[in-house]
Amino acid sequence: MKILVINCGSSSLKYQLIDMENEEVLAKGLGERIGIEGSKVVHKPSGNDKVVIEKPMKNHKVALEIVLNALVDKEHGIIDSMDEINAVGHRVVHGGEKFADSVKIDQNVMDAIEECADLAPLHNPPNMMGIEACQELMPNTPMVAVFDTAFHQTMPKKNFIYPLPYELYEKYGIRRYGFHGTSHKYVANKAAEMLDKDLEDLKIITCHLGNGASLAAVKNGKSIDTSMGFTPLEGLAMGTRCGDLDPAIITFLMEKENMSIEEVNTLMNKKSGVLGISGVSSDFRDIEEAANDGNERAQLALDKFVNRVKKYIGAYASIMGGVDTVVFTAGLGENSPVMREAICSDLEYMGIQIDKEKNDVRGKDTVVNTEDSKVKVIVIPTNEELMIARDTENLI
Ligand code: AMP
Repeated sequence: MKILVINCGSSSLKYQLIDMENEEVLAKGLGERIGIEGSKVVHKPSGNDKVVIEKPMKNHKVALEIVLNALVDKEHGIIDSMDEINAVGHRVVHGGEKFADSVKIDQNVMDAIEECADLAPLHNPPNMMGIEACQELMPNTPMVAVFDTAFHQTMPKKNFIYPLPYELYEKYGIRRYGFHGTSHKYVANKAAEMLDKDLEDLKIITCHLGNGASLAAVKNGKSIDTSMGFTPLEGLAMGTRCGDLDPAIITFLMEKENMSIEEVNTLMNKKSGVLGISGVSSDFRDIEEAANDGNERAQLALDKFVNRVKKYIGAYASIMGGVDTVVFTAGLGENSPVMREAICSDLEYMGIQIDKEKNDVRGKDTVVNTEDSKVKVIVIPTNEELMIARDTENLI
């Protein structure tokens, strides 16, 4: 079975065609600048050079048409006909409280995703555009929606409710939803597999540390808490997002700096995090380099980032009654031995001991704890596309 995985952003379309027989990626690529000048698709067939197709793309349907043509192209295509695509799996950011699992897409599901758009105005509408484009271009191919929020729907109420008037939860659905669920689920499963243990028997803290970053407490295979909340702004200090704040800072700033709602939103989402503290960059590679050159604010940004991750590790071990395994994934988690070591330092009292030599690894499934560490520490490159393809295969 061949499955096309699609992840649409407001002006982008990421895709992978996966052969489920051996879970091999046959082709992948990215459509960029959709709806604006300079749009292009970069298509990478497996084992072949990438192809850049520069064409105006006024919407996601046009971009998808170009992608489908690239997949069946005589020269750089990897399938003979579109009929070989058995199903499409769509990444959808917000499933609200309606979706605790992936689901086959029908009109009711589309309506429900649209209803969740209020909760993720930047993400769900482009996700819907991707679904609609597929419906028009491949009307007979079954489709599945895989939600970033679904894995966290197992959180108990005491963990997802905010200490606000309860009526606001009932009226607007203001609660913790959590994000990166597909990634947390993938790495938790993979960790159990690597340790040859039953996921049901493990207490795992999964650390998805990329430009956006979140931790999850996964107890007996279920997410019971996670650091992102009502939106992906809460929790860790991120590339450009502030994470946890005293909420009074917002009203203080609005008053003192005469800021509008939009300006405060931009400040918290785009100008804060490690970029805000360091003033150098939102990319951890740049910040690590600047810190090594003696830039104090760059070092402070890294220290703040590490401090938050440590706090959440402590908190999640505490609510799970211990921890067996800590998993690092995503851009920084997979690729930065320095940051993994900094996060794990001083956690020996919890039984977390990292092996410096084993930890000198990038982008590879590896157990990096010392022989006598009570807690296993594992690096696992995330693979959200594969998880989407697996769910899609299971559902059709
Ligand atoms: P992601 O959002 O998962 O794609 O992660 C992107 C982030 O990972 C980048 O902004 C970098 O900060 C970080 N990253 C990627 N590679 C490295 C590396 N070798 N060392 C440190 N940070 C890295």
